[in-house]
Amino acid sequence: MKQLTYPNIIDVHTHIYPEKIAAKALVNIGNYYNVPMRCKGTAEDLLILGTQAGISKFVISSVATTVEQVPAINNFIASVASRNSRFIGFGTIHPDFPDPEKEIQRIISLGLKGIKLHPDCQKFYVDTARMLPIYEKLEGKLPILFHVGDRRTDYSSPQRLANILDKFTGLICIAAHLGGYRVWETQGHILIGKNLYLDTSSSLMFLDRQKALSIIRKHGVDKVLFGTDYPVWSRKEELQHFFELGLTEEENYKILYLNAKKLFTKTYSCE
Ligand SMILES: [Zn+2]
Repeated sequence: MKQLTYPNIIDVHTHIYPEKIAAKALVNIGNYYNVPMRCKGTAEDLLILGTQAGISKFVISSVATTVEQVPAINNFIASVASRNSRFIGFGTIHPDFPDPEKEIQRIISLGLKGIKLHPDCQKFYVDTARMLPIYEKLEGKLPILFHVGDRRTDYSSPQRLANILDKFTGLICIAAHLGGYRVWETQGHILIGKNLYLDTSSSLMFLDRQKALSIIRKHGVDKVLFGTDYPVWSRKEELQHFFELGLTEEENYKILYLNAKKLFTKTYSCE
């Protein structure tokens, strides 16, 4: 493995849970995706493992699968992020939340820097009418990290996200998993070149090197962000997969750090 020469690496895609429920949450996610849950799913564990791998900052999130969970999860992520500047907290919202505008204001005032949406776990189509008022409120304010892609459902398909990008041109979006988890062969082209970021999480272990390189370079290295999908996989292996792509030093620097730094500098100042 190539030696890490990057003092600052930002991992834009991690999930954490309160200590009490972390073990249960991990079993649920592991079963849903049939993937190994290598870690504990807590903020403390993320810091330890991330530090060992040489990662300096982490976007942390947790997704509300019911309306009732929304305020508590936002409070939890905000309290963890406020205690350690290595965390960048992303909030959650639900399509059926009764007063989303108010909660989005609260998310901003809590110091959260974005929103994580997981349409498959939250059971909504990305382009459903129920979400449009929420996108409208977030447009130009907070970035949205979308889980994208599922072979078994159509909730988070790349095309549905493309429909939203066409409608809300000021939306700052990150499409996780290089634009479509495990649908790269059939739908991977849909988001390439669009006005959004792609993250590398849960992708590089499935894609062959040439395919991954082609997605990253066609989309543009200025719009790709490094992510590990903690607590899934291992931070070290995710970084190893990334370095094995053989991108140039400059490309590595942009994807591991600079693009995320610029994105968050830009959006922080919107508050
Ligand atoms: Zn995720």
